[in-house]
Amino acid sequence: MMITQTVEEFAIAAREWLDVNAKQRHDSAAEGAWGAGPFSVSVFHALTYEQERDLLGEITAWHRQKAEHGYHAITWPTQFGGLGLTKEYARIFSKLEAEYETPNRHETFSVTTGLIAPTIERFGTPEQQERFVSMFLRTDALCCQLFSEPGAGSDLASLSCRASRDGDEWVINGQKVWSSGAQFSQWGELIARTDPDVAKHRGLTAFMVPMDLPGIEIRPIKQMSGGTSFNEVFFTEVRIPDSLRLGTEGDGWNVALTTLGFERDHSGSGGGSARPGGTFSKLLATAQALGRTDEPCVRDALVQAFIHMRVEGFVNRRAADLRAAGAPAGPEGSLGKLLWTEGMTKMSDAVSLVLGAKLVADTGEWGTYGWGEHVLGAPGYRIAGGSDEVQRNIIGERVLGLPGEPRVDKNLSWKDTLR
Ligand SMILES: Cc1cc2nc3c(=O)[nH]c(=O)nc-3n(C[C@H](O)[C@H](O)[C@H](O)COP(=O)(O)OP(=O)(O)OC[C@H]3O[C@@H](n4cnc5c(N)ncnc54)[C@H](O)[C@@H]3O)c2cc1C
Repeated sequence: MMITQTVEEFAIAAREWLDVNAKQRHDSAAEGAWGAGPFSVSVFHALTYEQERDLLGEITAWHRQKAEHGYHAITWPTQFGGLGLTKEYARIFSKLEAEYETPNRHETFSVTTGLIAPTIERFGTPEQQERFVSMFLRTDALCCQLFSEPGAGSDLASLSCRASRDGDEWVINGQKVWSSGAQFSQWGELIARTDPDVAKHRGLTAFMVPMDLPGIEIRPIKQMSGGTSFNEVFFTEVRIPDSLRLGTEGDGWNVALTTLGFERDHSGSGGGSARPGGTFSKLLATAQALGRTDEPCVRDALVQAFIHMRVEGFVNRRAADLRAAGAPAGPEGSLGKLLWTEGMTKMSDAVSLVLGAKLVADTGEWGTYGWGEHVLGAPGYRIAGGSDEVQRNIIGERVLGLPGEPRVDKNLSWKDTLR
């Protein structure tokens, strides 16, 4: 195994493996070069069901190829098929991999490998860990998050989807919404209400649910950026065995917070690379190509976007260093997430200024109208994984020590709360 390799040896071996297994990107040295190759700055996919399914197929095939050498899970223990190496090795591999032609990203892939697999590692029984963790890390199966409901988003703990015990089984009835990638997932991490008589946070339990069970209906939702990434998921008398309960009964809130914590933890990213949406270099190239970089307002918008991206990068590096030193994920994840979504908004504002009418009228000019997919998609991430306002509440209360929000239902049982 490669565990004893130095960083330099690892980089050489990884480069050799990539040379054999992937094609070098022609534009890698000049990311953002105007007019070269395909242009994509989309935040969400605007694809048909078949196109999105095929894209996921390509991503998972490439991922499984990497898994043959442990490159899919570099920081994970060997027990789960990883290499047991530090984040530094993982960062090096990502940087090298970015120089090669690999399939585009997809959020269901990230949810499966980055959110659900580590949640099961933390809360699963040994049997569940053995059954799910390696499988999800390799993306042999995909998994979605079944948390939000029509009446429970920011206030997730008020959710109503019921799981009632029936001997060794649980019977699920209710509805979830905004479930990204549910139509492509074989599994779902479900948070359901198992006890309506206790306070809302305490009556929840987490489960792993096979998405093809009788009684589960998945209905895609069309979004303004063109695609159908999200779904409504309906449960009618769906039966699952107790062996699919994740964590102890009543501990679903902890499980949910852990998954959301992974979603908000941006410490692994340097701020800007391998992210959905446009990059600063593409933004700059667009402004240069349109001859707008002499204008004070445009220069100001570009500088603001650049400074923001750099600050975000430093904050994320600091969080990554803290994590590497053994500190648990904390409220700084909210800061990272907020900076990320604010950066996307700054990019939308800057590119709208640069493009003007070309953003909304397709003139056929390369690299212009396509920015609409960034501008229309970016607001979604200001809501997903906890809205900007909710992140500010967390930072206010847990970082700045400001007084908490009034919580009128704090001591009420869930069934007595207003919903
Ligand atoms: C791109 C995307 C992907 C998603 N994927 C999934 C998924 O895979 N699985 C899943 O379960 N869910 C998913 N969601 C749902 C997401 O978690 C919720 O949309 C989010 O938690 C907000 O809930 P809500 O939509 O019910 O809005 P609400 O909670 O009703 O919020 C409405 C508005 O009120 C504000 N607000 C609410 N509470 C407060 C407060 N206490 N203080 C200040 N302002 C407040 C919010 O910021 C927001 O502006 C996704 C959403 C998006 C946009």
